[in-house]
Amino acid sequence: MNLHEYQAKDLFRAVGMAVNPGEVVRDPGAARALAESFGGSAVVKAQVHSGGRGKAGGVKLARSPGEAGKHAEAILGMSINGLAVHEVLISPIEEIGSEAYVGVLIDRGSRCPVLMVSAEGGVDIEEVAADNPEAIHRLRVDPRYGLLPHQAYGLATRLYDEPKLASQGARAIAQLYQAFVDNGASMAEINPLIATSAGQVLAIDAKVSIDDSELFRRPELAALRDPTTESAADRRAREAGLSFVKLGGNVGCCVNGAGLAMATMDLVKFYGGEPANFLDIGGSSNPDKVVAALEIITSDPGVRVILFNIFGGITRCDDVANGIVQAVERIGFELPLVIRLTGTNEEPARRILSEAGLAAASSMDDVVEKAVHLATG
Ligand code: GDP
Ligand code: MN
Repeated sequence: MNLHEYQAKDLFRAVGMAVNPGEVVRDPGAARALAESFGGSAVVKAQVHSGGRGKAGGVKLARSPGEAGKHAEAILGMSINGLAVHEVLISPIEEIGSEAYVGVLIDRGSRCPVLMVSAEGGVDIEEVAADNPEAIHRLRVDPRYGLLPHQAYGLATRLYDEPKLASQGARAIAQLYQAFVDNGASMAEINPLIATSAGQVLAIDAKVSIDDSELFRRPELAALRDPTTESAADRRAREAGLSFVKLGGNVGCCVNGAGLAMATMDLVKFYGGEPANFLDIGGSSNPDKVVAALEIITSDPGVRVILFNIFGGITRCDDVANGIVQAVERIGFELPLVIRLTGTNEEPARRILSEAGLAAASSMDDVVEKAVHLATG
């Protein structure tokens, strides 16, 4: 789950990091008043889950309260990379001496957090990685020991020659790592970490993603979710406890178990089709989940056929069959249904389906081939 800049900055402040002040507003009048309170000038920044806001015109410097109001009005009406702006962050303008990049993420290859720093901050770090990779310095952190003070200082010397700045930089790096660990983040970055003309190291941008699997034990972070950034299908899936990823194809897939869902998508591809989604209804026996799954799949206008692939273990086939029958009655869709059921309570499941005028096969190959044929033919 991605956080907005202002939310990420609050997490950074909680570990004591030096972060520039700011307040979030939703209307130009409030932006004007805040700029006034900052002594007349202000930075106005779009709060959207997208990088490159500066390039897209979503970060503007205002030299008067009136200008801050105008910028806020323009930015609040914008979309950045398809995301509508609902809030702007207003901060006093900082005098920038230098801009650095500091980030930490999980490196799956080494199964460790990796810190990355670059003196070439402010710009897109992906650009630096492509054009000038030696300008990015990496350090793998052994999670058993955490980040050691000399390691943080070593990284900071890559950013600053002056010892006073380097020790402030080391503090910011250590605090970033602390915030990353404390909040169950999968990624945390500061770009730019500035040194002000007066010699203060300060985070003026912040980006944090929380690992979704950490949210259940961190309700205070789960509450930061911005519902406007989530599609209706994603929200419905999350609320129903389904693992759902929308893809671009036309074969709607409803499967129990992530492994079987992956295998099903592979087979759809093998027969020349394109899956419309990954959808795992999980191992539970709950017809409501099946209804939710069908609502989500049928709400995608690209879907031409619905493919059920259920291997009954803990999941009972009769529960899935009941869910399918209920969903057909409740939603009343026209799309062809292709069903494969095998395993626990397969026989009652077939009875339930045939009483409702539906049929189920037991071969996975056959149903997938048929579904692809129906979707393309
Ligand atoms: P991003 O483009 O989404 O990463 O947004 P940033 O917060 O990083 O802002 C983009 C750029 O705007 C920064 O790299 C700075 O160059 C500039 N900027 C942001 N805040 C300030 C500020 O307080 N003072 C000055 N002079 N420039 C700023
Ligand atoms: Mn930035």
